[in-house]
Amino acid sequence: MRNSTEFNHLLQAYTIPLKGLKQGMHEFDYQLNEAFFANFENAPVQQCQLTVHLQIDKRVNLFILQFDIEGAIPVSCDRCTEIFDWSFESNNIVLLKVSYNKDEAEEEDSDTDILYISADRSNYNIAQLIYEFVVLNMPIQKVHPLGENGQALCNAKVLDILNHGIEEEATDDETENIDPRWAALRKLKDK
Ligand SMILES: [Zn+2]
Repeated sequence: MRNSTEFNHLLQAYTIPLKGLKQGMHEFDYQLNEAFFANFENAPVQQCQLTVHLQIDKRVNLFILQFDIEGAIPVSCDRCTEIFDWSFESNNIVLLKVSYNKDEAEEEDSDTDILYISADRSNYNIAQLIYEFVVLNMPIQKVHPLGENGQALCNAKVLDILNHGIEEEATDDETENIDPRWAALRKLKDK
């Protein structure tokens, strides 16, 4: 992350005025694109069109934050290398608990999504949380979705070239890295 002054300036829109909220439900909407992710060093996401819908339920000494993030992130297909819009969706709930205990204050409970904030805290910036939710919900394997015929919507030409190479120089490692759905298709094809 950049230094905190710059961070605060660029991401000020993501500061929630905790003390200014009345008890009850509040809703916030944000649009995320590369300008947002440029605030984080080595962000695995850059170009994207994501919307964040945040609902905050303010209760006595507790804020329940529900983040619903969805949209498209262009990714390179692990199978055919073509860039495609990966449809992203995540739903996360975080509890912000006001703490009057100084030892507990501002600490993160790692087992649950409970964050403790000190009682004199008047606002809270959620940019880091949003960033983490997007990054944590990125797929480990990014592969074109399946089309109507049950086959992945991969670039057939590129696949042909790639598979020709793999068949000739297959090693155990490479075979293991092949997506299981694709491996199944290959088996069918080979019959
Ligand atoms: Zn593909």
